[in-house]
Amino acid sequence: MPLSPTTSPTVTPSDPAPPPQAYDGTSPFPPDGPAPARSGSDRLYVTVTAVIVVLPFVAISLAGWLLWGSLIHPADIVLAFVLYTITGLGVTVGFHRGLTHGGYRAVRPVRIALAVAGSMSFQGDVIGWVATHRRHHAFTDRPGDPHSPYRYGTHLRGQLRGLLHAHVGWLFRNDRTPPERYAPDLLADRDIRAVARAFPALCVLTLALPFAVGWLIGGTWRHGVTALLWAGLVRIALLHHVTWSVNSLCHMIGERPFRTRRHDRATNLWTLALLSFGESWHNLHHADPTSARHGVDRGQLDPSAAVIRLLERLGWVHDVRWPTAERVAARRARCQPLNP
Ligand SMILES: [Zn+2]
Ligand SMILES: [Zn+2]
Repeated sequence: MPLSPTTSPTVTPSDPAPPPQAYDGTSPFPPDGPAPARSGSDRLYVTVTAVIVVLPFVAISLAGWLLWGSLIHPADIVLAFVLYTITGLGVTVGFHRGLTHGGYRAVRPVRIALAVAGSMSFQGDVIGWVATHRRHHAFTDRPGDPHSPYRYGTHLRGQLRGLLHAHVGWLFRNDRTPPERYAPDLLADRDIRAVARAFPALCVLTLALPFAVGWLIGGTWRHGVTALLWAGLVRIALLHHVTWSVNSLCHMIGERPFRTRRHDRATNLWTLALLSFGESWHNLHHADPTSARHGVDRGQLDPSAAVIRLLERLGWVHDVRWPTAERVAARRARCQPLNP
């Protein structure tokens, strides 16, 4: 079913009414009002977020220090590559193209496996992730968007501040997106609810696994520690920053060959295509959110689409929304300036 670029990309019920104050595309977003009082669990959320963001950098420093005394083991790099790929595809194929946008339907074991793999990326539980991302599509680059780089306006200082906000600052705002409103379909799904509940355990697993495998392969606990550093913390940090770069850089720099909704400035950024498994073809994605393929033009690498194709051939996913030539052509921009 073709989806008009002016239609909300999500499968959620009606979005809240547009903000009362018209947005002109250049001003800072109006203030959200006084921040709600923080409860004990809110403080815990902010503390955990800070630890997750800061700890990998401590780990990288520690890893660098360790390197002076002992080499990185080849198994660490192989393990880091394997876990980066599995958890990354869990986010792109599972969380994003499947659960958020319904780009295909998967058989139950695959749906659960992808949700588990994505949860092991340390990016929040699956239901919260999907709710936040659907809200991003509902309010892209205008008031209501949880992580727009245009939050503080389009002048230079505002843009720099906005870039930081879109990349990582938004995580610290404690700006919860209600899943009841944005992801009722997932809340009604017993399997997905169970995966969301298991998120803390999966966070432990994503670190314990490389430690155990490193120890098993190397035979000493030191091998376990270096595997934990490289294939655990550093791998998580790299995927974090690649995912966050799609939120920040892919709304600021790059090409805009496709038409998007008013104020939506999503871009295609080829430099991140491989590391992001095709997610940095973000302009096409915002122009046609349910499309299972984001890299639709010649030479645009899209590993997530290749994985969906493979799963389709295996009979594990079906009803895939592959883009047709007409659908892509209908969304191609004639002439669209970056700023409205
Ligand atoms: Zn976006
Ligand atoms: Zn999306």
